[in-house]
Amino acid sequence: MSRTATVVGAGPAGLMAAEVLVDAGFAVHVYEHMPSAGRKLLLAGRSGLNLTHAEPLDQLLGRYGAAPKVTAAVRAFTPDDLRAWAAELGASTFVGSTGRVFPTEMRATPLLRAWLARLTAAGVQLHTRQRWIGWAAASTAPTLVFRTPDGATAEVSSDVVVFALGGATWPRVGSDGGWADTFRTAGVDVRPLRASNCGLLVSWSPRFVDAHAGAPLKNVAVGVRDHWVRGDVTITAEGVESGPVYTQSAAVRDAIDATGTCTVHIDLLPDLPVADVVARLGRRRPKDSLTNTLRRTLGLSPVAVAFLREATGNELPVESEPLAALVKGVPLVITATAGIDRAISSAGGIALADVTDGFMLRSLPGQFVAGEMLDWDAPTGGYLLQASFSTAVAAARAATAWVDDRD
Ligand SMILES: Cc1cc2nc3c(=O)[nH]c(=O)nc-3n(C[C@H](O)[C@H](O)[C@H](O)COP(=O)(O)OP(=O)(O)OC[C@H]3O[C@@H](n4cnc5c(N)ncnc54)[C@H](O)[C@@H]3O)c2cc1C
Repeated sequence: MSRTATVVGAGPAGLMAAEVLVDAGFAVHVYEHMPSAGRKLLLAGRSGLNLTHAEPLDQLLGRYGAAPKVTAAVRAFTPDDLRAWAAELGASTFVGSTGRVFPTEMRATPLLRAWLARLTAAGVQLHTRQRWIGWAAASTAPTLVFRTPDGATAEVSSDVVVFALGGATWPRVGSDGGWADTFRTAGVDVRPLRASNCGLLVSWSPRFVDAHAGAPLKNVAVGVRDHWVRGDVTITAEGVESGPVYTQSAAVRDAIDATGTCTVHIDLLPDLPVADVVARLGRRRPKDSLTNTLRRTLGLSPVAVAFLREATGNELPVESEPLAALVKGVPLVITATAGIDRAISSAGGIALADVTDGFMLRSLPGQFVAGEMLDWDAPTGGYLLQASFSTAVAAARAATAWVDDRD
């Protein structure tokens, strides 16, 4: 009789676990509570699907902090393996200027479509609109309980289970973190799910929002306690977002947790030393307004000048030295990060100490966990998807080995 596997959650981690398990000879059933698979992957692809990163492997592994189980999984299924896997699905990839890796088509849709077709051809059965709500009373094989679309419940038993339920961001695409309490009730240590890679809230004036929401501050640096991250920052109605903000958001969140506030600095001209900024401002023409001076001598964009005025309550210093100091570090006092609902990822989840090296729950033999629902964190840059895929491969391989040992 063939070996059976249940995968819960049809995101990148769940589908990857399903693929490894079906290749290992399991009859695989994937359960997903949304009407279709991979909705967050599709959302990620809307702004350019950053699949992984091309930096040297040791540097990449450093992005995951102290999470040796996760880094071991990435070593065993590397960015090169992920790119080869995507290429097999017809999604060749390229390395962008910052080392980020994207499919040539940028979007996730063609990749997901080809992947689902391949999984179906291999025999994986996807059951949508099935919400996992817990376990049935003790039985010899793991038995899961699902709520079906008609409100009834259904029990599913299998040799192994892989949970890949995602984090708790963008719940409208399915990852609502509802699983956390179910696991806690079962005695599993689930660390609080917190926003990571999120925007920072700033209470802009309505006038500034009307004129500049959606506009980028191009090529700036975002500093938190002398650690600077370069890139573009987007002004939003609620505050600031995009790459360097997300990268700094964990440090900001931790500072706010500790002291209630965090001052973030934005360097509008990271390529110019402050002395050069002072010298350029010194070329001010007597008749020029301050706005014209900032545009003409420093080349600041209209949104950058408006941002300077907004951040200082329109009290710009007139003297070159203090003005240059301001341009090199516009202070923003942050008291809150954006909510978890709109974050790119969530930190927290199932404690890595509660799973084996192969991501099997120590207290629930035969049941494995993969992807963002595990307690690891990483910045944006492709590291989130890489670890989601890699932990799924590791969990599915370990599940296969576990059944082999048992039989
Ligand atoms: C706007 C945005 C852009 C992003 N861009 C990138 C990027 O470019 N690069 C990158 O590396 N990362 C990116 N990410 C992060 C990345 O998408 C996630 O880290 C990744 O999808 C996590 O994969 P996962 O399979 O663990 O979880 P998910 O993709 O969240 O999948 C979990 C699945 O489980 C299902 N599920 C949840 N609960 C239940 C239940 N009780 N019963 C049944 N099914 C359930 C969900 O519906 C979902 O389909 C982005 C995220 C967002 C929000």
